[in-house]
Amino acid sequence: MTAKKKEVTLQVSVINQEQWEEVLVTKGLTVVDVYQHWCGPCRAVLSLLRKIKNELGDDLLHFATAEADSIDALEKYRGKCEPTFLFYGGGELVAVLRGANAPLLQRMIIEELSKEKLVLEQGGERKVVVDNGLMDDEKIEEEVAHLHSEDGENIIVPASKSYTVAIIKPDAVAHGKANEIIMKIQDAGFEILTHDEWILTEVQAREFYQHKGTEACFEDLVQFMSSGPSHILVLSQLGDSTNVVQAWLDFIGPTNTEEAKREKPASLRAQYGTQTLFNALHGSEDSDRASRELAFFFPNFSTPSGTEQDVEEERVERTLALIRPDVARENREEILAQINKSGFKVSLQRETMLTEEQVRQFYLHHVEEDYFPALLQSMTRGPVLALALTREHAVQHWKDMLGPADVRRAQEEKPECLRAQFAVGDHPVNQLHGSESTEDASREISFFFPVQQTLAMIKPDAMEEHKEKILEEIRDRGFSIRRLEEKRLSRETVEAFYKKHTDQPFFNQLVEFMCSGTCLMMVLEKENAVEEWRAVMGPTDPDQAKTASPNSLRARLASDILHNSVHGSSSPHRSEEEIKLVFGDLSELTEADSLDENTTEGPQDVSSDKHQQQCESKHHQDENRNQSLRAGVNEGPEEASH
Ligand code: UDP
Ligand code: MG
Repeated sequence: MTAKKKEVTLQVSVINQEQWEEVLVTKGLTVVDVYQHWCGPCRAVLSLLRKIKNELGDDLLHFATAEADSIDALEKYRGKCEPTFLFYGGGELVAVLRGANAPLLQRMIIEELSKEKLVLEQGGERKVVVDNGLMDDEKIEEEVAHLHSEDGENIIVPASKSYTVAIIKPDAVAHGKANEIIMKIQDAGFEILTHDEWILTEVQAREFYQHKGTEACFEDLVQFMSSGPSHILVLSQLGDSTNVVQAWLDFIGPTNTEEAKREKPASLRAQYGTQTLFNALHGSEDSDRASRELAFFFPNFSTPSGTEQDVEEERVERTLALIRPDVARENREEILAQINKSGFKVSLQRETMLTEEQVRQFYLHHVEEDYFPALLQSMTRGPVLALALTREHAVQHWKDMLGPADVRRAQEEKPECLRAQFAVGDHPVNQLHGSESTEDASREISFFFPVQQTLAMIKPDAMEEHKEKILEEIRDRGFSIRRLEEKRLSRETVEAFYKKHTDQPFFNQLVEFMCSGTCLMMVLEKENAVEEWRAVMGPTDPDQAKTASPNSLRARLASDILHNSVHGSSSPHRSEEEIKLVFGDLSELTEADSLDENTTEGPQDVSSDKHQQQCESKHHQDENRNQSLRAGVNEGPEEASH
């Protein structure tokens, strides 16, 4: 009967010092998988252990798992993520194996077992080992750093090819899955341009994920990512020009491992992830992130000198353009036309009223200048149109188009430039702004287009036929899906959700409809996400959408104003409320909150405190890496002529 029991419990689970001491006195050879609490024992070797156990059927062979965190004797193994197998005979350490190398593990078990038997049967001397293999983290980091500087390898990324940065995260590496995953990556037609093992320091992990700094999971993420070695890969795709960024995201599957298992069981995260935090793999969100991540891990990567066009392609960058309030409507159209004609893409756009405070914040270093009062007045007279413009050498190109900051000089020296063409009367302040440098551009873009979250929903009418298409569009448009849940909303939730419409004639129908089937609830994240998503959806009424915004989702997919396929929060404030309502603690909307939604279409006024806070907090986040916006706009009197 004991035999039976042994078969059932393949490995004795040891989780405290007492149990550990018990295991050590077990007669025979004990092979212990030392694991970290957060990643659990190595499951990769289970079938091997079972096979050995069955084949050898030896009473002197024992397997155990031991949690390093809770056993004093294993203190030095804490935080070491590589799978470690300790071989004990008569309470003494006789061998150590690092890494889930199955064939080697098998060989060592057989060898050590026969040695232990010799000791037991013939009273030979046991050969005890000391585990010297352990290095402290600092030493490992040093080694990794050394490795990096030593090979000084230049990563060649062909300009014509898109690439993405993939990470096999510490959980998968610790479980000994790296090689298996790498094989799958290659089998799937990805080309590995470079491959490196790397232990992120906490500081590096923080920097790498700084754009998630405000998320609840951030600290856990940083701890996890710096907990052990990762494999960093730069991937491209064999052959053609397909977009590897998206292909890789598709291959790894949804961030949330539950969702991955449900929706995309063949994806890597479904196979190797254990929870949303420990989801085994990373992929760059979009090509912009990919290039930043490439520079982060491989700062000395080089691109081959290709054709002129290839080289140009690599330098696609963004700049911030502002069209000040005094520019007449029709002139705005004309400016936009010239922008388009010059090969810029308008990647983000918003029209917004700035408060005095916001202008001061944006132009912090101009505040003391003589011209500031005029600039302030000009900036607050009406809505400003802010544009993020993308093209190669965007910053310089846009500056060239703008011409001299001094309006009079512009008119005399470069009459074809925009500042000369669109000067307003003899107004001393020029009417257009452009970022001074790429660093300024990124700060200024995040000032006007802070990263936001919005609640998006696929309504019951679109669930069956259009769900995949909508999800694809969400990703194509550069949104990150932060949360995703498919569920049928309760009447109570829907009523709370649409509280502000309670008195509308369509309210009952709306509630019926929203409860009639499952919805897909999502938290989307992007720069300016609230407005961006509403622009993707289009106007509430699909008939109107068809003329006003024929490419929008509602124009293309919705059947009528009630069954209009998608939902999106109407303001950053509402988005917070709705996310809480749908994903959070179902807390009631207050009266004030439900009154908040007074615009359903069009750009939101950034003058709300909420928005300002967001700008400020975003601004604050950026300070670490980029110094402050303050430093950024302090680029001399470019803004106004004086
Ligand atoms: N709705 C309707 N009839 C109307 C206006 C709205 O059936 O005349 C429905 C429609 O499904 C809409 C929802 O009520 O999406 C919420 O209305 P809102 O004005 O907030 O539009 P949204 O923000 O969804 O564009
Ligand atoms: Mg609404």
